[in-house]
Amino acid sequence: MGRIISIVSGKGGTGKTTLTANLSVALGSLGKSVLAVDGDLTMANLSLVLGVDDAEVTLHDVLAGEADVKDAIYITQFENVHLLPGAVDWEHVLKADPRKLPETIKSLKDDFDFILIDCPAGLQLDAMSAMLSGEEAILVTNPEISCLTDTMKVGIVLKKAGLAILGFVLNRYGRTERDIPPEAAEEVMEVPLLAVIPEDPAIREGTLEGIPAVKYKPESEGAKAFMKLAEEVLRLA
Ligand code: ADP
Ligand code: MG
Repeated sequence: MGRIISIVSGKGGTGKTTLTANLSVALGSLGKSVLAVDGDLTMANLSLVLGVDDAEVTLHDVLAGEADVKDAIYITQFENVHLLPGAVDWEHVLKADPRKLPETIKSLKDDFDFILIDCPAGLQLDAMSAMLSGEEAILVTNPEISCLTDTMKVGIVLKKAGLAILGFVLNRYGRTERDIPPEAAEEVMEVPLLAVIPEDPAIREGTLEGIPAVKYKPESEGAKAFMKLAEEVLRLA
């Protein structure tokens, strides 16, 4: 039986897509079969980050009732990593029914060791549908107080809905001198700190190349932090 993990946050731009891609590639390199799902239906961009640019059938077609989910799953160039991509055009967005996400994703539970869902930020319907497709959640935040509190709010809602909150990831740490340190962040969040990912240009470069940092620059501090996160996620099984 696979684990389905929602990657979530209160605000946009915290690094959910980056984390989904890097954690997928990291878990894949550790021998686990992974499906990365672009659950951000209105702002799909996980395919770019995973270097897939020729997906004809997408999750949107599945949610529109026009394709079988098995036809929307692609292999990537990364060991053991598969992708369920989204469409980027608005016509597809209008046709896709986000409420079908949970049943669609849960139907794949037995086919992979891990399904990681890149979710939209916030608590709107499309975000809730994506987040509630998971059975566990990883909260992604930046070291700023409003980001921490918004993400904590999402964590509380998901916990009430029955998801197991694995903990939070403090991403982009070290970008400014006023960053909230990990210990203080952990006190605010009231869930375990899974990893601190530093601000690292290698991460953005990898994103631009379509090769997540764990493969693009494995010796970078950012890549090493994502590998540690993968090991922590395995440990929490
Ligand atoms: P989200 O999916 O939460 O909206 P993204 O994953 O798209 O956020 O990240 C937003 C931007 O921040 C991207 O350009 C990404 O490359 C960059 N980024 C994310 N994490 C880091 C990091 N630790 N160091 C440097 N840049 C980062
Ligand atoms: Mg994103």
